[in-house]
Amino acid sequence: MKIKVDDITAEAKELSFREPEVGVNLVLDAGPLNEWRFKTPIAVAVSYYRAGTELFFEGQLDGCTGAVCARCAEEFEGPLNRQFRLVLSPRSIAGEPGSDRDAEAGDYAVYEGDEVDLSPLIREELLLALPTRPLCREDCRGLCPRCGANLNQGDCRCPEPAGDPRLAPFRSLKIQRS
Ligand SMILES: [Zn+2]
Ligand SMILES: [Zn+2]
Repeated sequence: MKIKVDDITAEAKELSFREPEVGVNLVLDAGPLNEWRFKTPIAVAVSYYRAGTELFFEGQLDGCTGAVCARCAEEFEGPLNRQFRLVLSPRSIAGEPGSDRDAEAGDYAVYEGDEVDLSPLIREELLLALPTRPLCREDCRGLCPRCGANLNQGDCRCPEPAGDPRLAPFRSLKIQRS
């Protein structure tokens, strides 16, 4: 989605659109987040205005992601929501990244030419919202290391690791030392 720089005025305007998931998935594929996929287009609601030469964008991204759980290897889907604030400075006068900027104001980027392409900025915000290790839920119990049963579906019949008789000598050693 591109916005003409001339159309960005001191008065805030609002825009809603759907960003195709294909472009985001290509970026995911190429990086460390390649376990993740977006399943549907991402709903973008953004308001934007300018103050001098700086352009401000703030809004919300809503998408649906899917991945294979890193613990139990089951596929899962879930919502992804992210609020963002972006400040864009013209490339010609943009200072060194991370100089004396106020981090509270949002993420910084630059623009040049007569258009702002929101798509790469949206992709970056989405990537920031994804954890590197996909989990179907916080407390996923994963797979039994012995029989491979999915422990989210109940306990397997394997003995508890603590009850392993081969470890007993080590346990008593520990007791003697203390
Ligand atoms: Zn899981
Ligand atoms: Zn088991």
